[in-house]
Amino acid sequence: MDWIRLTKSGKDLTGLKGRLIEVTEEELKKHNKRDDCWICIRGFVYNVSPYMEYHPGGEDELMRAAGSDGTDLFDQVHRWVNYESMLKECLVGRMAVKPAIPKGSHEGKKVLNGMLPKSPVTDPLPKEGPSSPSYDWFQTDSLVTIVIYTKQKGISLDSVIIDHQGDSIRAEVIVKDYSYLLHIELCHDVQEDFSVRVIENVGKIEIILRKRENTSWKCLGRPLENDNSLIPKKDRGLCYRKCQLISKEDVTHDTKLLCVMLPPSTHLQVPVGQHVYLKLTITGTEIVKPYTPVSDSLLSEFKEPVLMNNKYIYFLIKIYPAGLFTPELDHLQIGDFVSVSNPEGNFKISRLQELEDLYLLAAGTGFTPMVKIMNYALTYLPSLRTMKLMFFNKTEDDIIWRSQLEKLACKDKRFDVEFVLSASTSDWNGKQGRISPALLSEFLKTNLDKSKVLICICGPTPFTEEGIKLLHDLNFSKDEIHSFTA
Ligand code: FAD
Ligand code: NAP
Repeated sequence: MDWIRLTKSGKDLTGLKGRLIEVTEEELKKHNKRDDCWICIRGFVYNVSPYMEYHPGGEDELMRAAGSDGTDLFDQVHRWVNYESMLKECLVGRMAVKPAIPKGSHEGKKVLNGMLPKSPVTDPLPKEGPSSPSYDWFQTDSLVTIVIYTKQKGISLDSVIIDHQGDSIRAEVIVKDYSYLLHIELCHDVQEDFSVRVIENVGKIEIILRKRENTSWKCLGRPLENDNSLIPKKDRGLCYRKCQLISKEDVTHDTKLLCVMLPPSTHLQVPVGQHVYLKLTITGTEIVKPYTPVSDSLLSEFKEPVLMNNKYIYFLIKIYPAGLFTPELDHLQIGDFVSVSNPEGNFKISRLQELEDLYLLAAGTGFTPMVKIMNYALTYLPSLRTMKLMFFNKTEDDIIWRSQLEKLACKDKRFDVEFVLSASTSDWNGKQGRISPALLSEFLKTNLDKSKVLICICGPTPFTEEGIKLLHDLNFSKDEIHSFTA
């Protein structure tokens, strides 16, 4: 606490009056005395003299790294300590990285105690967008940890997609609308599975690999195509992994709930409101179609999406007998494989923040993006007052998860559902027709006061286009509408 108080006192702890400098190795060596002690940890140099008397391990221990790179020593003793935050006020700057290192040769780079500093000279930053992330690594006898520094707050587990295939590791990190890629052929064997940790407040990602043999690694490996690149997300090609079909159950006469399992060598979580592409080879040609993952149920204990640490992805898919893709999907047997891409989509979860009224307009399988939105809103939005779904279908038999929706409406006072049928039978007492001004103005009439509202719409393209037009006619602004389109 004394140390924290000192750091908050506004005192100049580096002696540089808030300036950050590039530190050469020669310069670092000069600062090796108790009253002038600089230490480098993972490429960042700290003036630790003011910290000497607070260091739990004592001054002598700290002096072991005086004027040098203390990363290994730090990692051996307490690598879990959040030094970035504790020593924030002592930051002198970054180690200068020697330029003109040929790309493609990690071995040629100066390794600072297991660290591979990334040179902004060899990896130019985009003019706009976030500053380029970087990565380094460290090891213990049994583990290799790759650390990606995004330098961005708000990075979460679903911002990271990792595939470990054979001896290569590919990690894509979504930073705002950009994609950062780490792509390496590892120099030694590791176990197939791995763990991932995200330290959200500093945007740090740790990928922890388990060595197959307890040997000391001299380097991490060889960079592969596009390693350490930051490009707009839309310019990054889709990456697929083979997933096994685990279950398939009927939901309506033509719609099924499919569950696929990610390989243990993949970390992937589909963010709320996003879709993936499924790929199958049909008569020798690869066919790809988009699908929006759902939760396994509307009534489960709402573990998704934040605690979605599982390996399963669920899809609600309508089978069109004359369609190209869905009959093939329907023919898959349990245990067969389908390729699943990285997530895509322009829905941002931040649109839900502080929302009071959420309206969902869905037609047919346009219901799929609403599923996770509903789960998320009811579980994680304390501001939510009402959530209403207007669900358009042809007949009663076409309504997906009707009984779950009705149960949810009974269980949660905030939620209400209205079914509208375009081809109803005479015994249907509910609403009828297609999307119309009359249906919408009645559905949205609770929004007469100025609450924070969002209307999400999804279905056949003409349905969505018509809905957007009608919403504008009802004076809802662009910011209050999100449409799901291809
Ligand atoms: P298609 O071959 O595309 O045919 C679809 C229908 O059109 C069939 O009835 C077919 O008989 C008819 N048809 C095809 N060609 C013609 C023609 N020339 N003339 C007349 N009729 C024709 N769907 C889901 O079920 N679940 C989802 O979660 C889901 N998510 C999606 C997310 C996004 C972002 C998008 C854009 C679409 C999503 N879809 C979803 C729809 C999905 O991508 C496919 O379009 C759908 O599964 C149909 O694929 P298909 O190849 O089987 O049918
Ligand atoms: P469907 O059963 O054919 O139709 C569902 C309802 O929409 C029916 O009541 C239908 O009325 C109505 N509808 C259809 N066309 C309309 C139009 N032009 N104007 C007003 N209402 C209309 O739907 P589906 O087969 O499930 O298809 C769902 C669609 O959603 C697909 O096109 C799929 O690509 C899309 N989708 C998109 C996403 C995404 O994220 N972008 C996600 C999932 C699904 P009628 O009976 O009168 O036709």
